Amino acid sequence: MRQVKCRMNLWQGMRQLSMTKNLLHRLMRIFSVPLKTLRGATRSLKVAQFCSVLNISSSLQIELVPCLKDKYAYLLYDVDTGTVGIVDPSESLPVIDALNRSDRNLTYILNTHHHYDHTGGNLELKARYGAKVIGSGTDSDRFPGIDIALKDGDRWMFAGHEVVILETPGHIRGHISFYFPGAGVIFTGNTLSSLSCGELLEGTSEQMLYSLQKIISLPEDTSIYCGHEDTLSNSKFALSIEPRNEKLHSYAAHVAHLRKKGLPTVPSTIKVEKACNPFLRTSSPEIRRSLKIPEAASDAEALDVIRQAKDNFLA
Ligand SMILES: [Zn+2]
Repeated sequence: MRQVKCRMNLWQGMRQLSMTKNLLHRLMRIFSVPLKTLRGATRSLKVAQFCSVLNISSSLQIELVPCLKDKYAYLLYDVDTGTVGIVDPSESLPVIDALNRSDRNLTYILNTHHHYDHTGGNLELKARYGAKVIGSGTDSDRFPGIDIALKDGDRWMFAGHEVVILETPGHIRGHISFYFPGAGVIFTGNTLSSLSCGELLEGTSEQMLYSLQKIISLPEDTSIYCGHEDTLSNSKFALSIEPRNEKLHSYAAHVAHLRKKGLPTVPSTIKVEKACNPFLRTSSPEIRRSLKIPEAASDAEALDVIRQAKDNFLA
């Protein structure tokens, strides 16, 4: 059973709060809304507070670290061993600040792909903490400071937590996602975002479709931690091509409410994305009508048309 809890006074009163949080969590799940408890500081991203998710069963804690203009790095903390990792540090300073606040060291740097807005902090963090850099074995030349190169289907351990490596090309070659089955979370970089997918820079729509299908074959309550905070603008495009999708309307309203308050929209879930994300809804008759995609077109052809429409969409 997943629990969500403020990192401040993390363990104090945990048992007493547990039942209340369970109830709240279940209620929020019914409405397909991720539950968050928050604290922290403001950065350029205008995320007013940090968000921590604590999974008691796996003792894995995740903290959002806003970076650059619209980016998140994710601080992973194993409460049993004190092991710390960072996913996709686009810059080092906010990560160092987050580590200083909790007086922690950094053991691992996990990169979904080599782009600068996911690896910009690698070398400074590696030099400062001696952290090991983990990335794709099929694209290892482009990952700054890589130490551990992993491939599709590899199982790597983060402080006792199994991490399954999923090769998820489409945005670029050598893109991987990190799936933690015990904690029920996946870090998807620029493959699957909330209500969108990455631009097809070095990949085809067939590859992206394959990668998205791989991710959404995971359990529906899997939490999706994507690379960017762009759900609000994604929702405008999604609504423009599927205006009668009621679930999309209610999720978009929730997203707008969160962003108005300066709160993050991450994580989403596979259940929400299946119901609302146009790139996972290539067979939707309404989307196909909106974009004049022929009935006979394959899902990959439809995805290609949706991607081009989004690339040209002016919110
Ligand atoms: Zn990228």
